[in-house]
Parts: sequence; structure tokens; C-alpha cells
Amino acid sequence: MSKNKKLRIIPLGGLGEVGKNMTVYEYGKDILIVDTGIMFPENDMLGIDYIIPDFNYLLNKADRVVGIVITHGHEDHIGAIRHVLDDIPAPIYATPLTRGLIEAKLARNNVLGKASLNTVEAGQSIQLGVFKVELFHVCHSIPDAVGLGITTPAGLIVHMSDYKFDHTPVDGWPTDFAKLAELSKRGVDLLLSDSTNSERPGWTPSEMVIGPALDDVFAAAPGRIIIASFASLISRIQQVADASVRHERKLAFAGTSMVDNAKIARKLGYLEIPEETLVPLEQALNMDPKRVALMCTGSQGEPSSIIGRLSAGTNRQFDLKPGDTVVLSSHPIPGNEESVSRAINRMLRRGANVIYDAIAPIHVSGHASQEEQKLLLNLVKPKNFIPIHGELRQLKRHAYLAQQVGVPDENILVVENGQVVELEDGKLHLGERIPGGYVFVDGQSIGDIDHGVMREREKLARSGIFLIDLNVDKYSGRLLGEPEIITRGFLSPDEANELLPEVRGRIMDIVNGGGLDAEKDIASAVKSFLYNETKRRPMVFVTLSKA
Ligand SMILES: [Zn+2]
Ligand SMILES: [Zn+2]
Repeated sequence: MSKNKKLRIIPLGGLGEVGKNMTVYEYGKDILIVDTGIMFPENDMLGIDYIIPDFNYLLNKADRVVGIVITHGHEDHIGAIRHVLDDIPAPIYATPLTRGLIEAKLARNNVLGKASLNTVEAGQSIQLGVFKVELFHVCHSIPDAVGLGITTPAGLIVHMSDYKFDHTPVDGWPTDFAKLAELSKRGVDLLLSDSTNSERPGWTPSEMVIGPALDDVFAAAPGRIIIASFASLISRIQQVADASVRHERKLAFAGTSMVDNAKIARKLGYLEIPEETLVPLEQALNMDPKRVALMCTGSQGEPSSIIGRLSAGTNRQFDLKPGDTVVLSSHPIPGNEESVSRAINRMLRRGANVIYDAIAPIHVSGHASQEEQKLLLNLVKPKNFIPIHGELRQLKRHAYLAQQVGVPDENILVVENGQVVELEDGKLHLGERIPGGYVFVDGQSIGDIDHGVMREREKLARSGIFLIDLNVDKYSGRLLGEPEIITRGFLSPDEANELLPEVRGRIMDIVNGGGLDAEKDIASAVKSFLYNETKRRPMVFVTLSKA
């Protein structure tokens, strides 16, 4: 059998984690990329802005990439696009809203000129090299999301990125069941689908349930209402706008990404807000609090976001005041629970009433739960199945559901990023492993921060720093003056008063005792002294200049 008969499926992101979704399909010399997302850093990844997939595998194959298809406009699907374009200048295909959001992102980074963007509507198909890609509409928490039917010489693939089976979505446009049935009729060789909620029994509630919950909040709020969500949760923005109209409040957006996304979505007709309802933020801040709703980002409690700053009392344009009602209309991303909870407590302390998803149905997931996942499997009837989008536990659970509805065990593969899978003669095989890890983006620098650096940052943050600067005579090796000591994040002022003279004395003894490997000796002596006294271990650095 020639090597060319195989379809290679290369998961570069989103398998074994939540976020940075990116899947590569390779057949012969043609390569198709689906999604290029980012992931937000976990608590212990200090100073990291976000994480992009490791796409080194593609670097020497850039000319073979026939296209990049993006399923929808969420950051975990579009966020890494400019980094991918830096190395892989392939044409991008997306539905109108997704394209608009990508355009805005590229323009913000001044790289729009580099991209070749193409609009494809749900229901259309495109031929990209050997791949025939059919886009069909799916419901999610952002309008204009699609699933993909990908016809390849090795078989028909259904790539189901984020979706839910909402019969009453905000935009009135349900998932295209007919297309799924039609693909199924043709015989689907492989289904890949979203596992995010595979641990959740039942059906994900419709977006519709949020309307009445928002009505309750709007009816009861004695003053301003501040609603936080993701800037890309366009459907939620629509619902808040609708509630504002119903309760005769003016609506203002705060934060660049929220303002930008709302503008794009309105321009393209995916967000309908009457002109007279929208007011600029400055105007809203000067109006009767009972007539105003503000919508902003920061529902994850990130310290740099508006909600983070409001909770800390450091927001520039406005402060929280008693009588405000804050609505966190999202669910904490795993790992963010702590910062969300901290932000809630702080805002309560400032006198605001805070409503969050544990106490009112002001958020529903955009992802399919178990019954929807089983319905999809039954509808598509795939010969083979690979769960995507989720941590290992969610992928495993999704695999179990597939077994339950009759996909044979041997036709299901649970793999994580970097594990190549091959589809040949209708059967799945494991291929080789390639790097599938994290590439950290920290300000302007990409990928220069390795795990060692991360561990050092962690240690610095956890245990503090102890710097000793020594001036010694280059001939005699004797100290010129007292050692200078700088310490941060380690000693309280009282401890410093007590311990630092002792540390200085010990250092002088060592140096003046003639040890000329003094830096090392001093560092270890100081470390053990500090440990004995405090039972803590800071990072100790000794610098020695000779004059
Ligand atoms: Zn999504
Ligand atoms: Zn996603």
C-alpha cells in the first residue's frame, strides 16, 4: 500500500486540555489546518499572557498548506492566527462574523495586510487541494459557528468543533441537523467532536433560559447594572441588549475588545441593538444609575480586567458603589475559580450586589452535554471516533459515551496533542509522536520562555529573593565596607531587623577569613542560616565586585 493513501490527523492543540484548539489534516502533500486557538495561562504560569500551540511540525511544510479553516470566532479557535500567519501565509476561510473578528484582531496587530481572508457561508463548500470542505451551521455561544464535513481520498470526516443542540438559540438559527443526516447517509469514516461537557449528564439548557434570569436581575436592581462576560460571547451581548430595551435602560460597553466586537457584530448584522439604546460609556456614567446597564469583560476575575480592577478599587473610569449590581455571566474556566471567587468577595465588600452562575441561571454553557453528544454520534453514525476539545478525563468520558451508543471500542482513539493518527482503509492507527506542547507568549516574545524559566518565576514568587552585594579589595580580598543586602518577598520588617545584622556578620567572617570561592560559600552559609531561622528558603544571589 503506498504511503499516499493515508490521511494523517495531527492534533496540535485542544486534546488533553481546554483551549488552543488546532488540528491538522495531511493527505499526500496537501495540508489543511482547522482552527488556530490560544489558551489562557494557568495560575502557576507567571507573567505569561497566553499560550499558543506548538506548530513546529508545519514550519518546513508551509508551502504545502492549502488553507486554514476557522470554525468560529472564540479566542481558543482564532487567537493564535497571527502567530501562525507569521510562518504559514496560507489563505484563511471563515464565515462572515468569524472573518470580521479575525480581521479586527489582525488589524489591531497591524498585520492585516499579510493575510488572505476569504468569506464562506454555512452551507457552502470549498475545494482546498484534495480536501473538499463543507461548512454547516452549528449553535454555540457565538453566532455563525460551523461544523465541517471534509471529504478526502481516505474517507469522509466530520469535524465537529464547539457546538450545542439548542432548539431556541438567541439568533433563531439552530444546528443544521439535515446536513448532519445527509453526511451520515454518505457514510462517515471518522467523527471528531467537542468533549468539553462530556461529564455533564442531560442536555445543555437553551440560551433562552437566560432571558428571564436577566429580567429578574434588571427588575430588582436598585442602581447601575454591570454585566461581565467574554467579549466574544456575542449571543450574551444580544441578550443583555434585549433586557436593556425591555427595562428601558441605556447600554454602554466598557473595554476595547467588548466595544470592538460589538461594533463588528452590529455592522455585520449579528447583533441587533436599537441605536437609541446604546450610549457611550462617559455618558452612561453621568446618567441616573437606575437607567443604565454597563457591559464589560473580566468575568474570570483577571486582575488586569475591568472586573478585576473594580474589585480592587483601581479602575480608571469608574468605581463600584453601593447599590451597584454586578452580574458575572460566565462560568469560571478551570483554574480561574480562585480569582473569580476573590473578585466576588471583594466586590461584595465594596457594597455591590453580585450575581453569579451559582446563585442564578445567568449563564448557560455553549457546549453539548452527554445527551447531545450521544445524539450527534447516533445521527452521524461514524465508523471511527476521536474525541477532541477537552482534558484527558473529558476525552475518556466522551469515548465511553461513544461506546455506549455502539461505536466499537477498537474504532475509538483517545489521543492527546502531538499524537499523530492515521486513517487508512477506513481504519485508525497510531502514527508517530511529534511535539505538541506549550509555546508561551509573554508580551512581544514568543516561545523564548521555557519551562525552566517558568519554574524560576514560580520559585521567586513563592519564596522571595535575597540579594547580597559585596565589594572586595582585588589584592587582599578583604571587604570594602559592609555587605549590601536587598530582600523582597521574604522577610517581614521585624525579621529583617533581627536577622540582617547577623547575616552581615557571618558574611564578613567568611570573606575576611580568606575563602576566595566566597560567592559559593556565602550563598550556602546564608541559605542554611536563613533556613534555620525561618524554615523558609528564598532564592539567594551573591554578587561580588572587586575594586
Ligand atoms: Zn467556542
Ligand atoms: Zn472552543
